Amino acid sequence: MLTIALSKGRILDKTLPLLKKAGISVAKSELDSRKLILDTDSIDIKVIVLRASDVPVFVQHGAADFGIAGKDALLEHGADGVFELLDLEISKCRLMVASKKGVDLNKSTLKVATKYVNSAKEYFYQQGRQIEVIKLYGAVELAPIVGLSDCIVDLVDTGNTLEANNLAPVELIHEISSRLIVNSAAFNTKYIEISSWIKRIEKSL
Ligand code: AMP
Repeated sequence: MLTIALSKGRILDKTLPLLKKAGISVAKSELDSRKLILDTDSIDIKVIVLRASDVPVFVQHGAADFGIAGKDALLEHGADGVFELLDLEISKCRLMVASKKGVDLNKSTLKVATKYVNSAKEYFYQQGRQIEVIKLYGAVELAPIVGLSDCIVDLVDTGNTLEANNLAPVELIHEISSRLIVNSAAFNTKYIEISSWIKRIEKSL
Protein backbone atom coordinates (compact mmCIF):
# COMPACT_ATOMS: atom_id res chain seq x y z
CA MET A 1 0.00 0.00 0.00
CA LEU A 2 1.27 3.46 -0.92
CA THR A 3 -0.09 6.79 0.31
CA ILE A 4 0.26 9.89 -1.86
CA ALA A 5 -0.08 13.37 -0.31
CA LEU A 6 -1.50 16.01 -2.64
CA SER A 7 -1.75 19.77 -2.19
CA LYS A 8 -5.23 21.35 -2.19
CA GLY A 9 -6.22 24.16 -4.51
CA ARG A 10 -4.53 25.17 -7.76
CA ILE A 11 -1.95 22.38 -7.62
CA LEU A 12 -4.67 19.72 -7.15
CA ASP A 13 -6.49 20.83 -10.30
CA LYS A 14 -3.31 20.26 -12.30
CA THR A 15 -2.18 17.15 -10.39
CA LEU A 16 -5.31 15.00 -10.73
CA PRO A 17 -5.22 14.89 -14.57
CA LEU A 18 -1.51 14.06 -14.43
CA LEU A 19 -2.07 11.18 -11.99
CA LYS A 20 -5.01 9.95 -14.07
CA LYS A 21 -2.73 9.77 -17.12
CA ALA A 22 -0.27 7.78 -15.01
CA GLY A 23 -3.05 5.33 -14.02
CA ILE A 24 -4.16 6.72 -10.65
CA SER A 25 -7.75 8.03 -10.75
CA VAL A 26 -9.64 9.51 -7.83
CA ALA A 27 -13.43 9.40 -8.37
CA LYS A 28 -15.37 12.66 -8.06
CA SER A 29 -17.50 11.05 -5.32
CA GLU A 30 -14.30 10.52 -3.28
CA LEU A 31 -13.13 14.11 -3.87
CA ASP A 32 -16.57 15.50 -2.96
CA SER A 33 -16.85 13.36 0.17
CA ARG A 34 -15.71 14.45 3.62
CA LYS A 35 -13.29 11.53 3.79
CA LEU A 36 -9.71 12.45 4.60
CA ILE A 37 -8.16 9.34 3.06
CA LEU A 38 -9.40 8.82 -0.47
CA ASP A 39 -9.53 5.59 -2.43
CA THR A 40 -8.22 5.48 -5.97
CA ASP A 41 -8.94 2.99 -8.73
CA SER A 42 -5.66 1.26 -7.81
CA ILE A 43 -6.32 -0.84 -4.73
CA ASP A 44 -2.74 -0.36 -3.53
CA ILE A 45 -2.85 3.48 -3.64
CA LYS A 46 -4.58 5.91 -1.26
CA VAL A 47 -4.56 9.68 -1.57
CA ILE A 48 -4.64 12.35 1.12
CA VAL A 49 -5.37 15.95 0.19
CA LEU A 50 -3.66 18.49 2.44
CA ARG A 51 -2.84 22.15 2.80
CA ALA A 52 0.17 22.71 0.53
CA SER A 53 2.45 23.55 3.47
CA ASP A 54 1.55 20.26 5.22
CA VAL A 55 2.56 18.00 2.31
CA PRO A 56 6.35 18.06 3.08
CA VAL A 57 5.57 17.43 6.77
CA PHE A 58 3.49 14.29 6.07
CA VAL A 59 6.11 13.00 3.63
CA GLN A 60 9.02 13.80 5.98
CA HIS A 61 7.44 11.77 8.79
CA GLY A 62 6.47 8.87 6.54
CA ALA A 63 2.72 9.45 6.93
CA ALA A 64 2.75 9.62 3.13
CA ASP A 65 5.19 7.70 0.92
CA PHE A 66 5.33 10.38 -1.69
CA GLY A 67 3.73 13.69 -2.38
CA ILE A 68 3.31 16.59 -4.73
CA ALA A 69 4.11 20.02 -3.36
CA GLY A 70 5.08 23.43 -4.64
CA LYS A 71 8.75 24.39 -4.44
CA ASP A 72 7.58 27.30 -2.25
CA ALA A 73 6.30 24.84 0.39
CA LEU A 74 9.55 22.84 0.15
CA LEU A 75 11.77 25.92 0.54
CA GLU A 76 9.73 27.03 3.53
CA HIS A 77 9.76 23.58 5.16
CA GLY A 78 13.46 22.97 4.55
CA ALA A 79 12.67 19.57 2.95
CA ASP A 80 14.48 17.56 5.65
CA GLY A 81 13.95 13.82 5.23
CA VAL A 82 12.50 14.11 1.74
CA PHE A 83 14.00 13.64 -1.70
CA GLU A 84 12.84 15.87 -4.51
CA LEU A 85 12.65 13.45 -7.44
CA LEU A 86 10.80 15.19 -10.25
CA ASP A 87 10.02 18.70 -11.37
CA LEU A 88 6.46 18.30 -12.68
CA GLU A 89 6.62 21.77 -14.26
CA ILE A 90 3.04 22.55 -13.26
CA SER A 91 1.64 25.44 -11.20
CA LYS A 92 4.60 27.55 -12.21
CA CYS A 93 4.97 30.96 -10.62
CA ARG A 94 7.64 33.04 -8.85
CA LEU A 95 8.35 33.77 -5.19
CA MET A 96 8.97 37.50 -5.20
CA VAL A 97 9.45 40.60 -3.13
CA ALA A 98 6.81 43.17 -4.04
CA SER A 99 6.07 46.67 -2.79
CA LYS A 100 4.12 49.81 -3.56
CA LYS A 101 5.38 51.32 -6.78
CA GLY A 102 8.40 53.58 -6.29
CA VAL A 103 9.08 52.64 -2.65
CA ASP A 104 12.76 52.55 -1.59
CA LEU A 105 13.53 49.17 -0.01
CA ASN A 106 17.04 50.15 1.09
CA LYS A 107 16.07 50.86 4.69
CA SER A 108 18.04 49.76 7.72
CA THR A 109 15.23 47.45 8.92
CA LEU A 110 12.65 46.46 6.35
CA LYS A 111 9.18 45.33 7.47
CA VAL A 112 8.24 42.28 5.41
CA ALA A 113 4.75 40.75 5.49
CA THR A 114 4.55 37.14 4.32
CA LYS A 115 3.36 33.57 4.77
CA TYR A 116 6.91 32.55 3.84
CA VAL A 117 8.76 33.51 7.02
CA ASN A 118 11.75 31.18 6.59
CA SER A 119 12.23 31.91 2.89
CA ALA A 120 12.01 35.67 3.48
CA LYS A 121 14.51 35.55 6.36
CA GLU A 122 16.95 33.46 4.36
CA TYR A 123 16.72 35.67 1.29
CA PHE A 124 17.26 38.97 3.11
CA TYR A 125 19.81 37.68 5.64
CA GLN A 126 21.95 36.23 2.85
CA GLN A 127 22.21 39.74 1.47
CA GLY A 128 22.99 41.20 4.89
CA ARG A 129 19.68 43.07 4.97
CA GLN A 130 17.90 43.42 8.33
CA ILE A 131 14.21 42.62 8.34
CA GLU A 132 11.28 42.43 10.71
CA VAL A 133 8.92 39.70 9.56
CA ILE A 134 5.16 40.05 9.98
CA LYS A 135 3.61 36.61 9.54
CA LEU A 136 0.27 36.64 7.73
CA TYR A 137 -1.97 33.78 6.63
CA GLY A 138 -3.79 35.54 3.78
CA ALA A 139 -4.46 38.86 2.02
CA VAL A 140 -0.72 39.53 2.15
CA GLU A 141 -1.01 42.15 -0.60
CA LEU A 142 -2.98 44.34 1.78
CA ALA A 143 -0.04 44.84 4.16
CA PRO A 144 1.96 47.51 2.25
CA ILE A 145 -1.23 49.32 1.24
CA VAL A 146 -2.35 49.88 4.83
CA GLY A 147 1.18 50.59 6.11
CA LEU A 148 1.59 47.30 7.95
CA SER A 149 4.80 46.54 6.03
CA ASP A 150 7.26 48.04 3.54
CA CYS A 151 7.00 45.08 1.22
CA ILE A 152 5.69 41.52 0.91
CA VAL A 153 7.15 38.17 -0.06
CA ASP A 154 4.56 36.16 -1.96
CA LEU A 155 3.83 34.08 -5.04
CA VAL A 156 3.30 35.96 -8.28
CA ASP A 157 1.78 34.30 -11.31
CA THR A 158 0.24 36.72 -13.83
CA GLY A 159 1.02 39.76 -11.68
CA ASN A 160 -2.66 40.79 -11.85
CA THR A 161 -3.20 40.76 -8.08
CA LEU A 162 -0.21 43.04 -7.55
CA GLU A 163 -1.29 45.35 -10.37
CA ALA A 164 -4.88 45.54 -9.07
CA ASN A 165 -3.50 46.72 -5.72
CA ASN A 166 -1.01 49.20 -7.17
CA LEU A 167 1.95 47.02 -6.16
CA ALA A 168 4.89 45.92 -8.28
CA PRO A 169 7.19 42.88 -8.23
CA VAL A 170 10.70 44.10 -7.39
CA GLU A 171 13.00 41.15 -6.60
CA LEU A 172 12.88 37.50 -7.65
CA ILE A 173 13.58 35.05 -4.82
CA HIS A 174 12.90 31.74 -6.58
CA GLU A 175 11.20 30.23 -9.61
CA ILE A 176 8.44 27.89 -8.37
CA SER A 177 6.85 24.75 -9.80
CA SER A 178 5.35 21.59 -8.32
CA ARG A 179 7.74 18.83 -7.36
CA LEU A 180 7.29 15.15 -6.66
CA ILE A 181 8.85 14.37 -3.30
CA VAL A 182 9.40 11.07 -1.59
CA ASN A 183 10.09 10.04 1.99
CA SER A 184 13.77 9.10 1.99
CA ALA A 185 13.27 6.00 4.19
CA ALA A 186 10.22 4.79 2.19
CA PHE A 187 12.21 5.25 -1.00
CA ASN A 188 14.69 2.65 0.25
CA THR A 189 12.22 0.16 1.75
CA LYS A 190 9.53 0.39 -0.98
CA TYR A 191 11.92 1.23 -3.82
CA ILE A 192 10.37 -1.03 -6.47
CA GLU A 193 6.74 0.09 -5.94
CA ILE A 194 7.59 3.77 -5.58
CA SER A 195 9.98 3.97 -8.51
CA SER A 196 7.57 2.16 -10.84
CA TRP A 197 4.82 4.72 -10.07
CA ILE A 198 7.27 7.59 -10.40
CA LYS A 199 8.33 6.32 -13.83
CA ARG A 200 4.65 6.23 -14.88
CA ILE A 201 4.13 9.79 -13.63
CA GLU A 202 7.29 10.95 -15.40
CA LYS A 203 6.06 9.41 -18.66
CA SER A 204 2.73 11.18 -18.37
CA LEU A 205 4.32 14.63 -18.03
P1 AMP B 1 -1.51 36.43 -9.88
O1 AMP B 1 -2.52 37.54 -9.67
O2 AMP B 1 -1.85 35.57 -11.06
O3 AMP B 1 -0.09 36.97 -9.94
O4 AMP B 1 -1.62 35.47 -8.61
C1 AMP B 1 -1.23 35.94 -7.35
C2 AMP B 1 -2.04 35.35 -6.23
O5 AMP B 1 -2.27 33.98 -6.43
C3 AMP B 1 -1.32 35.50 -4.92
O6 AMP B 1 -2.26 35.71 -3.89
C4 AMP B 1 -0.60 34.19 -4.78
O7 AMP B 1 -0.40 33.84 -3.43
C5 AMP B 1 -1.50 33.21 -5.53
N1 AMP B 1 -0.72 32.25 -6.35
C6 AMP B 1 -0.14 32.50 -7.52
N2 AMP B 1 0.42 31.39 -8.03
C7 AMP B 1 0.17 30.40 -7.14
C8 AMP B 1 0.50 29.02 -7.08
N3 AMP B 1 1.20 28.40 -8.03
N4 AMP B 1 0.10 28.32 -6.01
C9 AMP B 1 -0.62 28.92 -5.04
N5 AMP B 1 -0.96 30.22 -5.02
C10 AMP B 1 -0.57 30.96 -6.06
